[in-house]
Amino acid sequence: MRVLLLGGTADGRELAAALGAAGVDVVASVAGRTAQARNQAGARVGGFGGVEGLTEFLRTEQIDAVVDATHPFASRMTANAAAACSAAEVPLLRFTRQSWRSHAGAADWTWVPDHAAAAAVSATAPGRVLLTVGRQPLPAYRGLPDVIARVAEWQGDPIPEGTRILESRGPFDFDAELALLRDEKITLLVSKDSGGAENGAKLDAAARLGIPVVMIARPPLPEGLHEVSSIADALSWVRAAAEG
Ligand code: NAP
Repeated sequence: MRVLLLGGTADGRELAAALGAAGVDVVASVAGRTAQARNQAGARVGGFGGVEGLTEFLRTEQIDAVVDATHPFASRMTANAAAACSAAEVPLLRFTRQSWRSHAGAADWTWVPDHAAAAAVSATAPGRVLLTVGRQPLPAYRGLPDVIARVAEWQGDPIPEGTRILESRGPFDFDAELALLRDEKITLLVSKDSGGAENGAKLDAAARLGIPVVMIARPPLPEGLHEVSSIADALSWVRAAAEG
């Protein structure tokens, strides 16, 4: 059984290790946006060249199944994987961390569909915004007067006026998040619904301090795509795909 694992996330690395330990022949793939991703041992690095390139890859590399463990917001890769797997008739599974929609505080957050909407809401709130949306979307928040943007890796892009970059890689624990929000006098937290337990402490800390949260909803999945959020379920799916 030869499985293409689309990664670029901690969950992807964990799943690749679990599949390898279960005797599956794993071809791990990362886009290579960060040094951490580029240095993932044994992974191929870089895009496939759109749907056509990926379809060709599936055929020439004789891939039996694909697990898309890219970040929930890597929607282009997810759409390409769905189209290529359909063309090459290869089964596809979507593996993501569980959404924060089930978090105890989710009903109190302002849910928005995209970064433009998150920036518009932020512009109506006085004070200092903590942006935890990654590096690539920062231009959408240009114009906000007082922003701290926490990013895992800063790559020298121009920094919008009024923004301070805080380069720091998670996971972060509750006490550290509480201290950050307090020390930096944050009045609004902006986050994507990346999900999972590891990065959720900021949400608990914001709730403790009464800091409002703007949450960007996940992009919709391609129709009919099967999704799981545990390694055990992903392993079961791969085993079932191998049998049949
Ligand atoms: P994206 O917009 O969905 O993808 C853009 C292009 O990057 C894809 O069309 C594909 O190029 C290439 N690509 C993406 N993931 C790939 C993979 N695993 N292997 C090979 N090529 C890949 O993705 P993105 O939002 O820029 O994210 C890029 C990577 O960073 C993803 O692997 C994702 O898991 C990781 N990441 C993203 C976020 C986020 O918030 N978006 C956060 C943490 C980590 P071709 O069309 O040429 O095949």
